[in-house]
Amino acid sequence: MSETGKCLCGAVKFTAEDIDTHVHACHCSMCRGWTGGPMLAASVGSVEFFGDSNIKRYASSEWAERGFCAQCGSSLFYHLKEPNMYIMATGCFDNAEQFSLAGEIFIDEKPSSYDFAGDHPRLTGEEFLASMAGAGDS
Ligand SMILES: [Zn+2]
Ligand SMILES: [Zn+2]
Repeated sequence: MSETGKCLCGAVKFTAEDIDTHVHACHCSMCRGWTGGPMLAASVGSVEFFGDSNIKRYASSEWAERGFCAQCGSSLFYHLKEPNMYIMATGCFDNAEQFSLAGEIFIDEKPSSYDFAGDHPRLTGEEFLASMAGAGDS
C-alpha cells in the first residue's frame, strides 16, 4: 500500500510504502513540545520525499531526529537512525481515514486535560522502553 502526504504549505510532499495503519499516540514531553500536542504517528516501510531542501532535521537525541518543513513548520516525521526507520505524523497523510489508534505510549507524561477514547494498550515510558528492548533481543 502506497499513500501520499504533504506539509501544510505543500513545499514538502511524500509517498510512503508499507504503512502500518496502527497508530500510536505519544504523550512524552518531547513530542508535546515538538508538535504542540500529543504526537500521532505510524511507521512506514519506506518513504520518498519531494522538496527535500525544505526539510529541516532536528537531532532530538543521539539515536533519532525529527523532520519538519522549514517553510510552514509542519511536524513530518520521527526518524530512527538505527535501524533506519521513519515514523510519520499521520496528520500529514492525504488520507487520514486509513488509520486507527492502536496504543498510547508515555501515558505517565500525559497531561490530565485530555484523554483518548478506546480500549487499547496504554504504556508508561518505562513499559514502552522495556518493550522496545525486548524486541531488540529477538
Ligand atoms: Zn510546508
Ligand atoms: Zn514522544
